[in-house]
Amino acid sequence: MNHNWHGTLIRHLLMLVTVSLLAGLISGHYGGCLAIGLGLYLAWTLKQLLRLHEWLRHHKPDEPPPDGYGLWGEVFDSIYHLQRRDQRVRGRLQAVIDRVQESTAALKDAVIMLDSDGNLEWWNRAAETLLGLKTPQDSGQPVTNLVRHPRFKEYFEHANYAEPLEIPSPVNDRLRIQMLITRYGNNEHLMLVRDVTRMHQLEQMRKDFVANVSHELRTPLTVICGYLETLLDNVEEVNPRWVRALQQMHQQGGRMQTLLNDLLLLAKLEATDYPSDNQPVAVSALLQSITNDAQALSGSKNQHITLELESDVSLKGSEAELRSAFSNLIFNAVKYTPAEGKIRIRWWSDGRGAHLSVQDSGIGIDSKHIPRLTERFYRVDSSRASNTGGTGLGLAIVKHVLLRHRAALEINSVPGKGSVFICNFAPNQMTKP
Ligand code: ADP
Repeated sequence: MNHNWHGTLIRHLLMLVTVSLLAGLISGHYGGCLAIGLGLYLAWTLKQLLRLHEWLRHHKPDEPPPDGYGLWGEVFDSIYHLQRRDQRVRGRLQAVIDRVQESTAALKDAVIMLDSDGNLEWWNRAAETLLGLKTPQDSGQPVTNLVRHPRFKEYFEHANYAEPLEIPSPVNDRLRIQMLITRYGNNEHLMLVRDVTRMHQLEQMRKDFVANVSHELRTPLTVICGYLETLLDNVEEVNPRWVRALQQMHQQGGRMQTLLNDLLLLAKLEATDYPSDNQPVAVSALLQSITNDAQALSGSKNQHITLELESDVSLKGSEAELRSAFSNLIFNAVKYTPAEGKIRIRWWSDGRGAHLSVQDSGIGIDSKHIPRLTERFYRVDSSRASNTGGTGLGLAIVKHVLLRHRAALEINSVPGKGSVFICNFAPNQMTKP
């Protein structure tokens, strides 16, 4: 309805003034009648205003406004329509929110929203089963107070969420959960948590299988190698036609033993997240001893091996594991560098942590192989590896040892010119001897 209320209002006022003036004409009191007329109008207007106020304050939902007259009736109705429209919009929004909440509640994966300080804002039902969050007590609590695993705290504070994190569930040790954090909006966090127990069990079975097979093969292989050694020790009693075959069998047996040892070491490294001992390891002495071994391995190749110890910091961790990682890098440099080549080993520390670099002037590695070098059995050229007697597990061991010591491996190489392998240890891994 499109009514010209402006005109109507003026008409009403004119009528009121006319009636008042007429009454004034009859009674002879123009001023008094006009004042009474306007006063009555004002009183009526105030009454309507009070009714509106009363209705706005006390009306129940859906209760229509009181009947109003003229312009006031129109005002009452307009407000009522506005309210109804508002209610309908709110109802529709609530329905959308309910549907979103219902669907996230039905999700098997946990969805958790955290504010920019890492405090819990909202979570779905699965978060209660997987992480043990309690509604509503835990709302506003820092997530690191509720998920207390040290790896989670480190992961959350480090704020590098490129890779997901896998830890046991805080409510049930047998459940294995995977967490993925994404930042959105104003540095708020969205955390997704999945139950990966089944995948973890399969992975565990694979690791156990490899460890068991390696372990079971070790004894028969030791026996075979032992007999071969005895036969070769008494070579004059052996038919000369078999000597070369025996030597090759002995050599390949040795390779298999190194392979099994590497597989067992990898299995051991994978079994836990941290090294079993966390003693200060004197890196300088360790590198000195490995360099002497490298010199012996280099033998007649006459390579120029230098060791530059620019820092005397020690590392927290396991000496055996670090020895294995560093010697793999240094022996690789010896293996993949031709005679008369240069190998430079450097140990230094700065504001970003402690660093070991092993640089060689060897054959180098094509950049396309670099991202895959630390995979088990990955070889740039299989014929080349069999010449050097490598197992293909060396860099996989290096990667695992470094991961356990909170370090990262950096590889730079130019084919034909040489390679640099750098181990970067975080400052909190350094310690004084
Ligand atoms: P392997 O036992 O075969 O040496 P690793 O895991 O130690 O196995 O190394 C993987 C591959 O990386 C090697 O086969 C080799 O091709 C390459 N590689 C490792 N170190 C070097 C190096 N210093 N120079 C050139 N290539 C290297």
